[in-house]
Amino acid sequence: MSAADLRINGDRLWSSLMELAQIGATAKGGVKRLALTDLDKQGRDLVVSWGKQAGMSVTVDQIGNVFMRRAGRNSALPPVMSGSHIDTQPTGGKFDGNYGVLAALEVVRTLNDHHIETEAPIEVAFWTNEEGSRFVPVMMGSGVFCGAFTLETAYAAKDTEGKTVGEELERIGYKGAEIPGQHPIGVYFETHIEQGPVLEDADKVIGVVPGVLGLSWYDCVVTGMEAHAGPTPMGLRKDALQVATGIMQEVVNIGNRYPPYGRGTVGMVQVFPNSRNVIPGEVKFSIDLRNVSSELLDTMHQEILAFVEQTSNNSGLQISVERVSYYPPCPFHPDCVEAVRNATAALGYSAMDVVSGAGHDAIYTARLAPSGMIFVPCKDGISHNEIEDAKPEHLAAGCNVLLHAMLATAQRL
Ligand SMILES: [Zn+2]
Repeated sequence: MSAADLRINGDRLWSSLMELAQIGATAKGGVKRLALTDLDKQGRDLVVSWGKQAGMSVTVDQIGNVFMRRAGRNSALPPVMSGSHIDTQPTGGKFDGNYGVLAALEVVRTLNDHHIETEAPIEVAFWTNEEGSRFVPVMMGSGVFCGAFTLETAYAAKDTEGKTVGEELERIGYKGAEIPGQHPIGVYFETHIEQGPVLEDADKVIGVVPGVLGLSWYDCVVTGMEAHAGPTPMGLRKDALQVATGIMQEVVNIGNRYPPYGRGTVGMVQVFPNSRNVIPGEVKFSIDLRNVSSELLDTMHQEILAFVEQTSNNSGLQISVERVSYYPPCPFHPDCVEAVRNATAALGYSAMDVVSGAGHDAIYTARLAPSGMIFVPCKDGISHNEIEDAKPEHLAAGCNVLLHAMLATAQRL
């Protein structure tokens, strides 16, 4: 059989996904396996045992990231790595993260079945606490790995019961010896359910991911004057909500002005005193702006600031807007995007480009090594929910794309 005819075993991938989903299974068909709990340990142990059965050697770093290695002909080459995470949300599903890890494992199992050697080593990774549900920040393992924040910061993070990441890593036996970031990565691929509705809506099987949206978050406060809704004529009011709604509408206008990836959202609003017959004296609200390039996101940033200033001048009300969070857009490496595109075309799957609106470990690996992602549809675009679902044939297709993208890359390094 020629390498081009190679296919993964979709049934085996599916049954491994279902077996891992038993650990922390919820009554509604989801999974609750929070980072660094006993259940997380059980899940980790199971995946590691599968890795060992597939002949891989296992390394754990100081933040509990796990790397499972299949040797290549040239062990001096950095590995072609793929993975994701196996921790879940409290009411999470079976596929988010788990699919990326088990798809990478299935690639190795397939190479073993067919006795295929690669030039570069192949590695399967899972990163600690991607979800950020029990401990913040999110994407903790990959974040420490790429130096976004320190090991000490991560170790000190506490859950609601006051237990720290450092203690819990130690307790479950996954505080390894390797210094995070010292583990070489040649190229990194991550397969993931889309977590959005675009692929399903367009009836496509594979999402080629050119990058991840950057985001800017703001807190905005409009200060007016509380007064009685009856005696105060319209022209003599300082209505904070009336002024705030103009800004909220502009947030949406800005999102619409920069398609196809512009996003503008006001998701949180507080009105004071929030009383039926009082003119609102203060309104606090959030602004979330996103786009795919730094230039566009910066333009959107300038526009909202200018609009707020103009609104303040026109209304005479004091308005403060403060940027509280910023993640730059993350374009994936052209070689990785090309490898995914080529593998998809060779396999004959329907495909389209889908920019990721959610964060993934691949955002952080991209700071250290060429990285790329492969999306497959999930039912109704729903994730972070126990009803999260995906079709076996779509999961198999994404895994086949991963196999061929990794193979092509491993021979090229
Ligand atoms: Zn995920």
